[in-house]
Amino acid sequence: MTPKRILIVGGGFAGMYAAMEMRRLEEIGHQVTLVSAENFMQYQPFLPEVASGTIDPRAIVVPLRPLLKRATIEVGEVTSIDHDARNVDVRIPDGGTVQLEYDVLVVTAGSWSRVLPIPGLAEHGIGFTTVQEAIYLRNHVLSRLDVATQTQDPQRRRAALTFVFVGAGYAGVEALGELEDLARDAMRNYPKLRPSEMRWVLVEAAGRILPELPPNLAAYAQAQLAERNIDVLLHTRLESAVEGTIQLSDGQAFAADTLVWTAGVKPSPLAGVGGLPVDARGRVVVDDHLRVGLLLLRHRIGRRRLLRPAVAGDRAGPAAADLGSEGAGADRFVCQPAPPRERHRAVRGGLGPAARPVRRLVGPGRGDRVVRT
Ligand SMILES: Cc1cc2nc3c(=O)[nH]c(=O)nc-3n(C[C@H](O)[C@H](O)[C@H](O)COP(=O)(O)OP(=O)(O)OC[C@H]3O[C@@H](n4cnc5c(N)ncnc54)[C@H](O)[C@@H]3O)c2cc1C
Repeated sequence: MTPKRILIVGGGFAGMYAAMEMRRLEEIGHQVTLVSAENFMQYQPFLPEVASGTIDPRAIVVPLRPLLKRATIEVGEVTSIDHDARNVDVRIPDGGTVQLEYDVLVVTAGSWSRVLPIPGLAEHGIGFTTVQEAIYLRNHVLSRLDVATQTQDPQRRRAALTFVFVGAGYAGVEALGELEDLARDAMRNYPKLRPSEMRWVLVEAAGRILPELPPNLAAYAQAQLAERNIDVLLHTRLESAVEGTIQLSDGQAFAADTLVWTAGVKPSPLAGVGGLPVDARGRVVVDDHLRVGLLLLRHRIGRRRLLRPAVAGDRAGPAAADLGSEGAGADRFVCQPAPPRERHRAVRGGLGPAARPVRRLVGPGRGDRVVRT
């Protein structure tokens, strides 16, 4: 058996689990290297709870080095893939670039926030995809209570107590729900403020919230929000946020100190690098098992002999045997391992195979849960 160099790009959900699955490959002599922008994996589903303080930030990050003891962990950003030469360029935190070679490449670079060119958004919008942003948002919301209680200006007070979230998917609904809870609880310590002075607004361009859920569950979640006096504005878009004035497509304009942008994601630009097949929206085109290897063999390398490729976590057969026994074409394989949870597919925009059943889905705050089983 010739040992293979397996290179995983990205240390998120998919990359970390792929590396864990590959421990058995390491045991028989293959080498696994994981390159990621951070040396930890963050569990994004609990970001709303981190923002509200019900979960300690340290509890949602998994340090990669102690977990993946046999693998080599490289912290850096992959900037290009040369599939013919089988190497990638990595920009390391120190500023330089190193080159890593591979026989098998696993691309799990995740997605980026989809930011639109809305005036004022870049200056005032707060993203919600990282632990750092969750902690920042928590501190920001609490700081608005201090501003509101100290100012003598009623307009200033109103702006400080107005919180706008754009995008009513899981991230927006959960983040708003948790932070409203936080602010409402914290107000007990601000005798001059009343919860009824707060305005929480959820802006959604589509005609419903939580598009990933069946309509009845989404309607239930929306009713919960309405009960808490949260304004859910459907068929409405953010048009401008210049100097903190929120201008909406329904004609409303009001000042708000807090603007949270949770309006979806787009594929990592890495998806289109190195000749991987992508669709019009920049998403990697894969087969039913999240593989692109056969497409590359057919369309790029031009091989006729189709080989059964090795995929991390593929229950159909041990990846180790594939790696050891197949011909030269298999090691040009590029793949994306199946995500641990189906939400991955919904959020990333449909890269995956047929849906698996989904369980706990959304928590609109106050410990409520909308569950589909
Ligand atoms: C607020 C919120 C709540 C969510 N709730 C749920 C939920 O309840 N259930 C659920 O299933 N999903 C949920 N998701 C979605 C889920 O977190 C993602 O689908 C999942 O993280 C995607 O996994 P991934 O490995 O593809 O990408 P990620 O976890 O984003 O990992 C990508 C990794 O690649 C690294 N990377 C990116 N580009 C490069 C590069 N060029 N070079 C090197 N490294 C790179 C990144 O630093 C990152 O570590 C939620 C997401 C958010 C934001």
